Amino acid sequence: MTLDKRAGQRFLPYGANYLDWSDMAELREVIDHRVLFRYQTEQESMASRLERTAAERLGARHALAVHNGTEALRLCLISTRPSVGDLVHIPAVTFVAVAGAVLSCGLIPVLVDVDESLALDTGLLPPDARRVITAHMEGTVAPVPAHVPYLIEDCAQSLGARFPDGRQVGTAGYAGTFSFHHNKVLTSGEGGLVVTGDPAAWARMRCYHDHGSARVPGSYPTWNEDAHFGENLVTSEGVAAVQCQQFRHLDEVLAGLERMYALAVDRLPDRPDLSVLPRSAGDAKVSVRMRWESRELRDAAVAALTARGIANWTLNKYLLPEHPVLTGRRSPYADGFPWSHAPAGPLALSADGFARTRDLLDRTLCVPLSPELPEPAQIEAAKAVQQALETV
Ligand SMILES: *Cc1c(COP(=O)(O)O)cnc(C)c1O
Repeated sequence: MTLDKRAGQRFLPYGANYLDWSDMAELREVIDHRVLFRYQTEQESMASRLERTAAERLGARHALAVHNGTEALRLCLISTRPSVGDLVHIPAVTFVAVAGAVLSCGLIPVLVDVDESLALDTGLLPPDARRVITAHMEGTVAPVPAHVPYLIEDCAQSLGARFPDGRQVGTAGYAGTFSFHHNKVLTSGEGGLVVTGDPAAWARMRCYHDHGSARVPGSYPTWNEDAHFGENLVTSEGVAAVQCQQFRHLDEVLAGLERMYALAVDRLPDRPDLSVLPRSAGDAKVSVRMRWESRELRDAAVAALTARGIANWTLNKYLLPEHPVLTGRRSPYADGFPWSHAPAGPLALSADGFARTRDLLDRTLCVPLSPELPEPAQIEAAKAVQQALETV
């Protein structure tokens, strides 16, 4: 069985939804205004509008837009005033950007094993952990550790997900980061955002992201006597306009995912060698995550879906202990920075050398959902998934 052509084309990984010329009012506004640089104007810039919208929607006090989610992580880390070589505990299963952000700030990642749900196992954290990045992967809501001075939530894959008490992910600790890369809940191709409830942290981030300056919008930057260096991570008005347009559709996206999730889970074949990984009510339902009895079955399911043109992915690529960027401790710096500052001994916390995690990843498969499809097309797509998996 194959999907009809139109449904097949649109049955894509989530991302790039709702992009339509009839709906780009913010982008037209920016072009009409003829200002592409956010600090060119004293009025509320499009970037500021995005930050205000995001902060309100997420229930955060402050937001700051940057170019991508990796920069957002770097900015959070730098704003904690670390020393070179300080340790940062990160999940052993996440996108390599998390490790890259840590290392590029001169800090050393410690890989913390994950629990059954593939989220950082907070029980493995040492009591004196100061900097922890947890990642809410695939629209899930990871448990967050208490009493960590600098808890950074990487919400790149989980914009709009909620904790059981209703708070949005990204607001539980020191700061939260988001990405608007092509393959995320909302997209502007590239884009990133930080939220924080801490006004001093926000001020440090804002300063660093604009050359260490204390710029007043509408004017050239100024530097205080005690200024430190910074970089240029300032977003641009055109990108912010697309992000504002996307944000208008966030609730629709989440509702469309929710609807298709129910349809797809309902139609999964009832077989003893296949189980659906549970999702909580507050998850952003970006995919159906399933677990097979063996790697062979999982791989057969990948082949069956792929042969029918149905998007799917596995999570093995996220196993950081085996990632080439980490295994060799190589560096673009001639002196090996910052690995040259790493303590001796392994930089991993796992009871079994990640054996259980490796096995879980080998048997896990995700099928992304398409929020913008009308319900009949979602049903067709869900049936196509069902039929493909029945042949395994
Ligand atoms: C995409 C992603 C990032 C990086 O975001 P970019 O905007 O691509 O830099 C970081 N962490 C996770 C978990 C991601 O999925």
